[in-house]
Amino acid sequence: MKVRFWGVRGSCATPGGRYLRYGGNTTAIEVRAASGHRILIDLGTGVTELAKELMAAEFGQGRGELPVLLTHTHVDHIQGLPFFTPLFIRGNSIRIMGRELEGASLKEVLQDQLNGHYSPLYGLENLAAGLEVQTLRAGSSWPAEGFEVKTQLAPHGSTSVVACRITADGKSVVIMTDVEHAPEGISSELTELARDCDLLVHDAMFSDSEYTLRAGWGHSSISSAIAAAHAVGAKRLALFHHSPDSSDDRLDMLVQDAAEASSVPLFAAQEGHDVTV
Ligand SMILES: [Zn+2]
Repeated sequence: MKVRFWGVRGSCATPGGRYLRYGGNTTAIEVRAASGHRILIDLGTGVTELAKELMAAEFGQGRGELPVLLTHTHVDHIQGLPFFTPLFIRGNSIRIMGRELEGASLKEVLQDQLNGHYSPLYGLENLAAGLEVQTLRAGSSWPAEGFEVKTQLAPHGSTSVVACRITADGKSVVIMTDVEHAPEGISSELTELARDCDLLVHDAMFSDSEYTLRAGWGHSSISSAIAAAHAVGAKRLALFHHSPDSSDDRLDMLVQDAAEASSVPLFAAQEGHDVTV
């Protein structure tokens, strides 16, 4: 199984020379199985680059199928949707899965993003591809051909997100972005979801000193990502959802310190890189 990070940045895209190595696009992770099946996690600005690869193959001919799991609908996780060109090609079939939201349906939230005030697309109905928006209960298995996808709700400040465990080829990757665990640590439900995974992709937005000022914002410190990896018995940890304040040089430094503090091998997720799981 391969994991490719198309967007690793949290909250706000960061173009500019100081962010080139780790990358400045917001959340988008592609998981590919040896069978050729793929699943996309989130629709941040990173999907614009994935779109180019897909359009050069079957999606450019209207023969592509793609399941997308949305962790949540904060703007850095959906901002790439209006620019995801496979949606403009008749014949493609794209299915967005997310959890039920409070106060509005998932489809309404995505529709609002395309209203004429924000976008010249004027609504999901104007996308030529077959688009299905499906809401499912977090805590259950979600359908994606070629994978087993288990989900669980995870705390994200005043709201919650979907954490997922994706299994194929006898390997598992767990994606836990935009989470802030309780002070006593990761919950038993999330521990169960992530237990003994081959790769844990975990929010690590803040350095420890930043976290003292930003506790309660819904993101993790690098130390709490490491603590979670230890608690669940992860074999490897990818630090993810990098702060827009973290330049390449700063991230190098943070990762070096983190690696010394962790007995779980770790790295910082890097845009455009394939990780074999
Ligand atoms: Zn985010």
